[in-house]
Order: sequence, then C-alpha cells, then structure tokens
Amino acid sequence: MAFQLPKLPYALNALAPVISEETMQYHYGKHHQTYVNNLNQLVAGKPFEHMMLDEVVMMSAGFDQAVFNNAAQAWNHTFFWMCLSPRGGGQPGGRLYNDIVAKWGSFEAFRDDFVAKAAGNFGSGWTWLVFNPETEGLEIVNTSNAETPLASDNIPLLVVDVWEHAYYIDYRNARVDFVRGVMDRLVDWDFVSRNYYRAC
Ligand code: MN
Repeated sequence: MAFQLPKLPYALNALAPVISEETMQYHYGKHHQTYVNNLNQLVAGKPFEHMMLDEVVMMSAGFDQAVFNNAAQAWNHTFFWMCLSPRGGGQPGGRLYNDIVAKWGSFEAFRDDFVAKAAGNFGSGWTWLVFNPETEGLEIVNTSNAETPLASDNIPLLVVDVWEHAYYIDYRNARVDFVRGVMDRLVDWDFVSRNYYRAC
C-alpha cells in the first residue's frame, strides 16, 4: 500500500487567520503531497515500500538521502498538522506546564525562547520541543531541511515548520509573526502533553 497524504482533523480554512486557507492549499495540498508522491516513486521495489513511514525515516537516515528527505518531510508535516488545532493556543496543563516553568521560569519565557530559536533557525528547517531521554529534560531543538528528532534519541513533542513555504503567503518575510501566532493561537497542547506523557 502506497504512502498517503493524511486526512486533516480540521478544514483547510479552520486555522485562519494565523494560517490562511491559501497557505494550507499550497502547504498541505501541494508541498506535503509532493513529498508523499516523491517518496512513493523512490521506494518502489525497495524494502522501504513495506515499512511504516516512521520506520522508513529511521532506516533511511544516513543511508539513502533521497528517501530520507521525502520520508522525513512527509512525517514532519503530518506531525506538524497534528500539533495544530483551530481551538489551540493558550498553555498546557499538568506536568508539561510544571516542567516548562521549572526549566524556563514561566510559560511566557518558554514561548519567547521557542520563537527566538525559530527565528534564528538559518535557512529551511523545523523548530521542535523535544524530550531528551539522556538528560531527562525538555529542550528546544532546531533542525535543517528534512532533519527530524525521529532519527535521533530525542522524542519530538511539538514542532513548527519554519520553511518559507509555511508562512510566505501570509507573512512574507516575517517568520517571527507566524511562529508567535502559531504558539499563541494554534498549538494543540493536549496533543503535546500526550506526547510528553508517553515520552517520560
Ligand atoms: Mn512545510
């Protein structure tokens, strides 16, 4: 069975005005779809063809760059869409909130650090909140291009796509405004918290 573009749990216009319907038509409908299409072409006849997407990402890392790029981009985008909700924003509750405050001093300080690191992620990439099992702590991590914590020991909890295609229609060059909007109004903290409970 070929890899598929995942169905979204919300309408393409549901994330507006932070992310417009036009951005979603391109970002989800064209960019994400193209990674899925390219991946299906690249894995045809290879053992990757019969793996789960996350297995393809882990098995192709450092081994087959073209497969990795498209598999990781397919996985990263699916994870990104899951991190968003039209009813998102605000703050997490429970242990994740307590551990964020313990590390950053306040939720606002964490939010500002995340936005600053996203703004400073040079070129195309992704900005993540991860759980580092070695330090048993939360960390904000930047990755470039298709790189993903899925191919590392870190466990991804939250991601924001900072490739220009994620924000250029709505914000032009103002990446900071896009990331702040996502953090303040779209992050599905229930999803992020569930990832955290599973991670530690
Ligand atoms: Mn993207």
